[in-house]
Amino acid sequence: MLSFVIPAYNEEKNIEAIYIRIKELMQSIREAFEIIFVNDGSTDNTLGKLREIASNNKEVKIINLTRNFGHQAALTAGLKWAKGDAIISMDCDLQDPPEIILEMYHKWKHEGFEIVYARRKNYRKDNFLKKAGSKLYYKIFSKFSLIDIPRNVGDFRLIDKKVLIEINNMPEHSRYLRGMVAWTGFKHTFVDYYRPDRKEGESAYSLAKLARLGMDGMLNFTVLPLRLGFYLGVLTIFIGTALLLYQIGDTLITGAYYHLYKWLIVVLFIFMGFMFMLMWIVGEYIWRIFNEVRSRPIYIIKEKVNFDV
Ligand code: UDP
Ligand code: MG
Repeated sequence: MLSFVIPAYNEEKNIEAIYIRIKELMQSIREAFEIIFVNDGSTDNTLGKLREIASNNKEVKIINLTRNFGHQAALTAGLKWAKGDAIISMDCDLQDPPEIILEMYHKWKHEGFEIVYARRKNYRKDNFLKKAGSKLYYKIFSKFSLIDIPRNVGDFRLIDKKVLIEINNMPEHSRYLRGMVAWTGFKHTFVDYYRPDRKEGESAYSLAKLARLGMDGMLNFTVLPLRLGFYLGVLTIFIGTALLLYQIGDTLITGAYYHLYKWLIVVLFIFMGFMFMLMWIVGEYIWRIFNEVRSRPIYIIKEKVNFDV
């Protein structure tokens, strides 16, 4: 069986269309399926539409959240209840064309991939700021990332049940699912596609929400914020020392006179560098605490050979 997990926030105009598309698709490959719609506190008639469809079609399931918790939280809720052998998460707005799913399905079923990402080929048709921002973000991200998180990949993907179990076992609260999926390290591949514009309704991802998601990614999966103290420290100590040496040299060689405050300033500069270093060390401890608290598994086993059960 296949599970579809679809978060929906004010998507009344898209629900029916996406249901029909998925149903046709599943009939064409003769697979049993369930669609879990997560109503993320919609203020329009999304829930009404969902109830309507669910009352006639048992394979449609609804998880209705009390209020708007955000895309990642809604996805998390849906994933928790998915029962399929493979789980497909996608947007409700038909920006993730169901036709791609056939290809993803094939790679999972016949080629043995455990994670199949749908990768956007064209750049988002968003405004310049969003585009440039996401480009810069990925650049910095990949430079400092602890793991390899694929680029141009959103939350449109297929995962095997094995992967789902690992994800559901991660108790961390700030969830950056694409990172968590990549972190598990299962065998993965890509299906490329051109992402069309949103069909109906508005993109619910405001710049603020996007920034928050980006922040979660940075803080949870890169060491950049942590290392900042180190880099600043090294830089400041280096500059301070250079200035100090210059002053000493100048005094000894040309006999120039420096006021006391000038000596103080360069010394202070060096000490500031040490402060940054200290903050970095404190940060390293906090990072360790953070890792303990989010209690990810320490490893994930792919297979064991010759072990008795
Ligand atoms: N969504 C949600 N809660 C939110 C915002 C969005 O459940 O607070 C859903 C939305 O209905 C859609 C998916 O998350 O199915 C992605 O949102 P959207 O299409 O607005 O993002 P974009 O495709 O523009 O990145
Ligand atoms: Mg969308």
